[in-house]
Order: sequence, then structure tokens, then C-alpha cells
Amino acid sequence: MTHKEIDQYHALALFSGGLDSILSIKTIQEQGLKVLGLHFCSPFFGNPQKLEHWEKVYGLDLLALDVSREYVQMLCSGPEFGLGKLLNPCIDCKIFMLQKTRDLLDKYGAEFVISGEVLGQRPMSQRRDALFVILKEAGLKDLLLRPLSARHLPPTRAEREGLVDRGQLQAISGRGRKEQMALARKYNITEIPTPAGGCRLTDQESCKRYLPLLQHHRPGPEDFVLANQGRQFWCESYWMTIGRDKQDNERIQEMVRDDDYMFWLKMHPGPTGLGRNITGSPWPGKVLQSAAALVGHYSPRARKCLRKVDVTVQHKGEQTELSVWPGPDLEGLSWAEPVWDQDAARGLFAV
Ligand code: SF4
Repeated sequence: MTHKEIDQYHALALFSGGLDSILSIKTIQEQGLKVLGLHFCSPFFGNPQKLEHWEKVYGLDLLALDVSREYVQMLCSGPEFGLGKLLNPCIDCKIFMLQKTRDLLDKYGAEFVISGEVLGQRPMSQRRDALFVILKEAGLKDLLLRPLSARHLPPTRAEREGLVDRGQLQAISGRGRKEQMALARKYNITEIPTPAGGCRLTDQESCKRYLPLLQHHRPGPEDFVLANQGRQFWCESYWMTIGRDKQDNERIQEMVRDDDYMFWLKMHPGPTGLGRNITGSPWPGKVLQSAAALVGHYSPRARKCLRKVDVTVQHKGEQTELSVWPGPDLEGLSWAEPVWDQDAARGLFAV
């Protein structure tokens, strides 16, 4: 048991690592209350490696929670309140995190929950009507305090009962950052993190990697982690990840599952390729040949040698060798990097 499992707190907070989440905790800590910040982690958000640094720099008490499996399940089942501009299910996401937090209240003896939301700052999850939906759905009626916008919102139980002095809470709204910066100065915060801490589901570059996964397959968290790596290629329902550098190659090698296909060049320096078998059947020979050719294509030395190159393919512990012309097209099969398609994303969960 760590000290955090036995310590008791007045409040639990959603802690993304962004400035607003830091300020919301500071605002409550300032009133002499103990707050534990929960840092949710999944393939899309979370940076648990930074926890210790944040604790030290901002004087916070934090706990990382890996919610990958449940979160991916929520996303893949079609979020009830829909998606934002890209693949971000912001309303369902907030509800999900708040429900998880609510479930931990008793364990930490906490009486209320804090979130760093600011009214009117975000188009989807932070509009006034959305805030009320989130509150109701999360089963946190009366218990969710948003210290940065609190004076625009009805008093919560902690305020009404005098545990928190409402007069010391903030009345921030809108997209400006002036008031947050002033608060940061007040709390001597000199290391200002990027707003909101970053979420890959709001990043088009990441979302275009996830889209084919959601179209072809019922993915698990490990699939999204793999989709975050290297270069991504799809050919019908066949999926390849190819390392861009040594670090990518090492990471990709760590992600290999028993049913995956690994590719590497026998005689030339080049990338590692990983073919994830999402079809459930062994890849046909011509698909393996074209995937091997694709791996060869990303080795400048193999391309320059102007003859066929040998690629080793490993599957279920067995190795075979294929001799191929390097290139992204072979045997009528063509590998392409995914592109973002807004309509396809909208159609994903259409009933
Ligand atoms: S931006 Fe990402 S982490 Fe934040 S609420 Fe939306 S989906 Fe959740």
C-alpha cells in the first residue's frame, strides 16, 4: 500500500497537467484543504512519467490511474454524446473521468471533487449546458466544484456547508488566459504548462492514424498505442507500422504480439516493420510480399542497390525470407498512409 492509499483528503481533483487543473487545486489548497489530483492515463492522454516532477514543482499530491481498457471500450462503443471536431468524445470523457473519481471518494475520505473546467473556454465540453449534463450523468450533483468558474455556477454542498469559502473562489469564463496567468503569478507558478495538457483525440495527426483502426477492427488499447508509433500504412484491412528511427524500431519491437508479423532487412540497415494481424486469418503470401517490399522502400540503402533485397519475416517464432523489389506497390497491392476523413469519422457510430 502506498502512502496515497492510506492518506485522507478533503477533495479529489481531475489533474490533466494543464495550467487550469493546477490552478483549480491551488485555489482549494489555499483554503487549508488537502487535495489529491488524479491523473488519468490512456493511449490518448496522460503522462505518468511527469507525476513526480509536477508534484515537486507545483507542490501537489498526485496519483496516476490507467484507464486504457475501459476508456477504449467507451470510445469504440460509440460515445453517447457524440464526438467533437475530431475523434474526441469530450462530454462522455468528462463523465467517465468524473464517475471514476466519484467511485474513489470513500476510499480517500474525500467530500467533493474538483475540476479545472472554465465556462465558455471549450466549444464542446465546457459550455454551460454541457457542464450540467456532465454533472448529472456523472452522479455528482452538488459534489463537483469548479474553482475557476465557481462564482458563475450554483453553490455546491462544500460551499453551502462552509467547508469551502465561495468568496475566495474564481469567476473566470471565456477563452482568455489573462486571469489564469494572474493566478499563476499569485501562486508563484513559473513553469507554465501548455493549455489542457494535450489529448491525441483532438489532434488530427493522431486521429488519422486511429480512423482505419476504428473502421476495420474492434481495437484494444495496445492497438492505439501501436498506432501512435512510427509510420502507419494500410492496404485494405492489412495494417503495417514502420519505424522512423532507432527509437521507433525499439518501441515497435517491444509491442510485438504472438500473432504479429515482424519484418526487417537481412543485408541492409533499415526500419523494423510490424504487421498487426487484425483479420484473424494468416496474411496471404502476396500481402506478405508487398509488406516486405514496403519495409525495403524505407531503407535508402536497399532502394539504392537497384536489385531485389532479402527481408526476414517472423511470425509465431518462425522466420522466413522473402526476396522483393523495394516499393510501396507490389502484386497489385498498394500501401498508403491513412488520411483524415471527417465524413468517415462521423459515420463511425451512426445508427
Ligand atoms: S480533450 Fe480529450 S481528454 Fe479532454 S475531455 Fe476531450 S476527449 Fe477527454
